[in-house]
Amino acid sequence: MLSEDDVKKYLRAGLIASDAITYGKNLINEGVALEEVAEETEAYIIKNGAKLAFPVNLSINDEAAHYTPSRNDKRKFNKNDIVKFDLGAHIDGFIADTAVTIEVGNEMESSLLISSERALYNVVQRMRPGLRIGEIGKIIEETIKSFGFRPIYNLTGHELSRNVLHAGLSIPNYDDGSMVEVEIGMAFAIEPFSTDGSGYVKEGSFGNILQIIRDPEEFNEIYENYGMLPFSTRWIYRDFSNPENIIDKLLRSNKVYKFPILKERRKGKVAQFEHTFVITKERIYVTTMKIHRNPI
Ligand code: MN
Ligand code: MN
Repeated sequence: MLSEDDVKKYLRAGLIASDAITYGKNLINEGVALEEVAEETEAYIIKNGAKLAFPVNLSINDEAAHYTPSRNDKRKFNKNDIVKFDLGAHIDGFIADTAVTIEVGNEMESSLLISSERALYNVVQRMRPGLRIGEIGKIIEETIKSFGFRPIYNLTGHELSRNVLHAGLSIPNYDDGSMVEVEIGMAFAIEPFSTDGSGYVKEGSFGNILQIIRDPEEFNEIYENYGMLPFSTRWIYRDFSNPENIIDKLLRSNKVYKFPILKERRKGKVAQFEHTFVITKERIYVTTMKIHRNPI
């Protein structure tokens, strides 16, 4: 169960993550390096008193998720790129996970972006204890399809717990028939992905994100810095004096997960919006949206 103090930490992380999205979004422009946006946004989160729950993800066009720039990454934003800007902040292990999609150089949002954003907003409006997980998926799928797009069937939202980004429940972007219900005390992220492609992602090449998945004592210094949360190769250069050796060891270990970039199977363009929810007896908090509601 969540204490009042836990909820406060979730809310603080949510505020910082939300401000970081606003801050970083304005940096994303034609010709700007991905690395610059990732570094500056991560610095902003730290400066504001939170820790990074995972590296800033900047996944472009048919990349749905899990790309973070490497150190000295050459990639720059191009006009019309569809950029999924996804970040995570935590206070004492209480995580806020949030994302927006930006179309570089375009003031008006295209219907692909709106379909994902509206799906998320419809879930915000309908959220309550007792809502079925399958029903959440149904709201997402129906909204996205009403715009003529497909949800991504093999990507999901997820429950959050202290120091764990993907804990327990997965929350699908379609009705998978799940009768599990939203309960008081739960925290989770909802992230509708929409696409003009097949509706499925496949694994691509390494996206510079790593995570210790077992026997953390083998990587003591890494574990002390990042726990068992995802981190990036860039951070190793920032935080350690012998980065090449450490990265080499991490890449060769079977106790470390090397996140592949998730790419749309038919090279469709992908949009994603995401917010973090915390459900208490008194309130439904959307921590990364700076709003809360009374349960209906
Ligand atoms: Mn996210
Ligand atoms: Mn997430």
